[in-house]
Amino acid sequence: MLDIVIATRNSHKVRELSGLLRTPGIRWHSLEAFQGIGPLAERGATFRANAVLKARAVAKATGCLALADDSGLEVDALGGAPGVRSARFAGRHGDDQANNRKVLRLLRGLGPRARGARYRCVLALAAPTRVLAVAEGQWAGRIARAAAGRNGFGYDPIFEVPRVGKTVGQLSARTKQRVSHRALAARRLRPMLARLARRSATARN
Ligand code: IMP
Repeated sequence: MLDIVIATRNSHKVRELSGLLRTPGIRWHSLEAFQGIGPLAERGATFRANAVLKARAVAKATGCLALADDSGLEVDALGGAPGVRSARFAGRHGDDQANNRKVLRLLRGLGPRARGARYRCVLALAAPTRVLAVAEGQWAGRIARAAAGRNGFGYDPIFEVPRVGKTVGQLSARTKQRVSHRALAARRLRPMLARLARRSATARN
């Protein structure tokens, strides 16, 4: 088995990512299983920089392969904000309701065409001495006029999928898992993971 640490202590993320990236021959671990690793900094200016930073830091600290993700929302009318500040757009880290209220307030009065937005996710896989792969997924949509739906997290109640006329907060978790930015990034990373697992099995035999 090839062991890979998911560079987060968020159990929701560990479950979601290890499900999306299920690959024969790979065993996923949470960072929770490792002692003495400090908080992971998200100091980069881009999602890619943050994902790479976290994957490298965890690979170095644990001596294992590490997978990290960074994701967020970009709103066209706000010049790409909240971007890497998605989790703390309104000030306090992780205050989803305040973040959503702030985006809705800043877009007040804008028509549907001016409300374009996208979710982005970057996944980075690193070994202790180098980055092995980076994959990105995007999900295009627009900001709704008002929050709707209770599913998902973060900006899901205000992120509308134009083709279905519903917010992600109104979609089932299964539907989201099929088409999300994170699912797309995971799909793009899977061939690389499968190659690594095969190589590691061959090396052991
Ligand atoms: P991080 O990747 O854990 O740093 O998350 C960044 C932030 O982006 C989250 O706190 C959410 O506000 C937002 N975000 C990322 N992915 C999603 C998603 O799938 N739905 C809603 N919000 C998301």
